[in-house]
Amino acid sequence: MIKTPLIFAATSDLAGKTRGKAFPVADLAKRAKRGVGWTPTNVMITCFDTIAESPFGSLGDLLLIPDEEAAVELDFEDGGPVERIMLGDITDLDRRPWDFCTRSLLKAALKRLKDVGGISLVSAFEHEFQFKTGGDQPGGAFGHSVFSERRVFGETLMAALEQSGLGADTFMKEYGANQFEVTNDPAQGHRSADQAVILREVTRMTAQRLGEDVTFTPIRDPAGVGNGVHIHLSFLDDSGEPATYDAEGVAGMSQATGSFIAGVLKYLDSIIALTAPSDVSYLRLTPHRWSAAYNNLGFRDREASVRICPVTAQDSSSVARQYNFEYRAADATASPHLALAAIIHAGAQGIEDALPAPQVTEEDLSTLSADALAERGYVRLPETLAEALQRFEDNATVRAWFPADFAAVYTAHKRGELAALEGKDTAARCVAYEEVY
Ligand code: GLU
Ligand code: MG
Repeated sequence: MIKTPLIFAATSDLAGKTRGKAFPVADLAKRAKRGVGWTPTNVMITCFDTIAESPFGSLGDLLLIPDEEAAVELDFEDGGPVERIMLGDITDLDRRPWDFCTRSLLKAALKRLKDVGGISLVSAFEHEFQFKTGGDQPGGAFGHSVFSERRVFGETLMAALEQSGLGADTFMKEYGANQFEVTNDPAQGHRSADQAVILREVTRMTAQRLGEDVTFTPIRDPAGVGNGVHIHLSFLDDSGEPATYDAEGVAGMSQATGSFIAGVLKYLDSIIALTAPSDVSYLRLTPHRWSAAYNNLGFRDREASVRICPVTAQDSSSVARQYNFEYRAADATASPHLALAAIIHAGAQGIEDALPAPQVTEEDLSTLSADALAERGYVRLPETLAEALQRFEDNATVRAWFPADFAAVYTAHKRGELAALEGKDTAARCVAYEEVY
């Protein structure tokens, strides 16, 4: 069969979907300069392909400019086509970053972190997902036999991640029904978010090539566990030395880390609409699911929104290099770029305001009364997307981290998504999301 190999130029949009347009490989040099055409109203396409009320209407033109440094060329060597994806930035026709380009928003947040804290970010995304194919496997939690059934998948996926330049870290059978987890290597700056987008697509493509079907939806069954995205963060100083750890700090936090996490916790209820942005995200963010229900920092506690992770090293310079914390209140309905941008802005605000390092919890906060929680500065996180959107919209500090119209456009998009679910009960909503993520 004749063919002209194509590159898919892609953006991770407000719906957390990877969308774009393809062009012939032979045109790359031209397209890397001129981009491919893009349309403002595309940003209002919800995850269900409905179009939320758009301020742009049919007007305007944009460019999606593929970034050769965010290119993936993946040959599964199964006789099928070579996959080529290139993430890019959306600009206006004068090449200025577009206000609703998630990748550009992340770059701006990283710049702010550098400016206020003198630090740059290293991060890694840990993804949980579930197979929709293959039937139930009772008794399979962390089990070898279920792992073994998916060994071919896992080994193909690891090879595909390596070929895509992500670095394969681990693949494991998670606790939930048909649930697995995949992690790739950490990366600097916006690259880790690029890699999270690629990891999701590579996982889906691997499944497709093997006749399987997977979902990254936050929760399939409200009686079961959810699929989280845990974002591990650490910092480097100007000379490239680790800047996250201080042996003298509270639970080992450096001053910058303490203020950063304090900022994340302070603004968590107002940014969660960006990191856990679907209707069903809030079924997952409930106590005793090992996700996140309160704005607390836990020391090695998997029920906390932010957790200080264990280190295995003994000597202090290796500890400083390994030391990291994870943000657990995220899921794969969020664009990795947008989720990370929101977390970084909250942290940068904490550094700017010189917030003191938070206390570390090692207890079950769900047993405390609302008064007892409030006394210690904790809040129950929003319990619905509608409430989360309202908190984002009402928080002038948080709104101001983004371009002027961003909050209005984002909340309109998300309210359009909620409108598409009207009349559906919880089970039908779960089905709707697992079909599209
Ligand atoms: N599945 C849990 C979540 O929804 C996380 C379990 C774990 O700690 O890996 O975040
Ligand atoms: Mg896990």
